[in-house]
Amino acid sequence: MKSHKATRNPMTGIRLLLALGAAALLAASCVTNPITGQQQFSMVGKSQLLALAREAVPSQFAADYGTATDAQANTYVTQIGRRLVATLTPADVVFPDMPFSFQVVNAVYVNAYAFPDGTIAITRGMLAELENEAQLAAVLGHEIAHVNCGHTASAMSKSMVYGALLAGAQGYLAHRESKYTDLAGLAGQIGGAVVLASYSRDQERQADQGGMLYMVRAGYDPRGMVDLTRLLVRLGNANPSALEQLFATHPMSAERLQAAETRAGSEFAGRNAGVVNQDAFLSATAGIRKNKEAFKQFAKAETQLANRQFAAARATVQAGLGLAPDDTVGLLLLAQASQQAGDNSVARAAATRALQLNPAAIRAHGVLAQAALIDRDYDTALQHLNTFGHQVPGDLNTLFCRGLAYDGLGRRGEAAVLYNAYLQRAGTQSSEGQFALGRLQQFAQ
Ligand SMILES: [Zn+2]
Repeated sequence: MKSHKATRNPMTGIRLLLALGAAALLAASCVTNPITGQQQFSMVGKSQLLALAREAVPSQFAADYGTATDAQANTYVTQIGRRLVATLTPADVVFPDMPFSFQVVNAVYVNAYAFPDGTIAITRGMLAELENEAQLAAVLGHEIAHVNCGHTASAMSKSMVYGALLAGAQGYLAHRESKYTDLAGLAGQIGGAVVLASYSRDQERQADQGGMLYMVRAGYDPRGMVDLTRLLVRLGNANPSALEQLFATHPMSAERLQAAETRAGSEFAGRNAGVVNQDAFLSATAGIRKNKEAFKQFAKAETQLANRQFAAARATVQAGLGLAPDDTVGLLLLAQASQQAGDNSVARAAATRALQLNPAAIRAHGVLAQAALIDRDYDTALQHLNTFGHQVPGDLNTLFCRGLAYDGLGRRGEAAVLYNAYLQRAGTQSSEGQFALGRLQQFAQ
């Protein structure tokens, strides 16, 4: 993971995709899907997959409030992931020697996801819902299979185009009434963009199949996959909004549960019966599971924030912080809800505290940059924008806000370069785009 941070990729998502498209015309080839055995069209090579991931991973991790600070849980998830990867053979993979890595991210919604380079993450929200190691192995095995079958590559290309086009128009700030009649009122939420791939039902079926195969090879009871599927269906019925993203990216169906049941009772019948390692799981994840009730409050607050119910979001997040006072996600949600409600000093204090407790929670720099823009403290805004931009290269809202900050400082040359760069990528449809275009026209007069 560290290597992603160290390497800055100057290509934007769109330009990268154009390059990939051009390369595909020259280098498109057929590869064998390791699960179905069928020939499938592969658009990209391994080095391009790694480049795609280098663009997308830092952005997604920032949106998920950084990697978790719970070393025990991180080590444990890595250990189970590696145990599964160790069972892979050349016949299992489209691209050999992917640099698989596993992390827990701070987000409280229930999901797990994979990037084309084998970067796999599970949210604290999901880890808190699982019951044993076999279910965790099923989750990680499913994600590993998406990587092995090349699903992440094609799905990611689509969602990156979509994500880049929408990024300029997204964010709470972009849609609010212009209470401050301030430049900052135009800026979208920094670090909130999500680029997760979504899969087809066929791909889900294959990932379940591969995941179950790997977990059985690693010594787990295949029922872990059945129980996981049942658990997710139950959670989705009880609390649809908490699993919205999981089901949007990994379509769930009664058929998936049925298929897992059938396979556990036929192909894998009697294998590793009863090996679910519940005690090891409960012990290694205790630090995360103890905050499960707080996560539910934070997840509810996120939904309220997205629905622009700022007062309700603040009350809900305060209830969650009553249970887990120093939680990174809670503090940053408090910061965002407070900023939206016009309470910039609470926003700044909460974001500063979150950053002190967890330097990986770089979304805090987005809140602090916006707080500074609102206060017309453009130098401070630039410091936070540069820190964020260094770790998440290519973030559109950061680009726009840097333009605003230079504009505020009266440095029109630098502002014009940034506004132009923003317009090239995002176009003029968003309110930010309109603003940037208007300023460039004023500069020219
Ligand atoms: Zn999936």
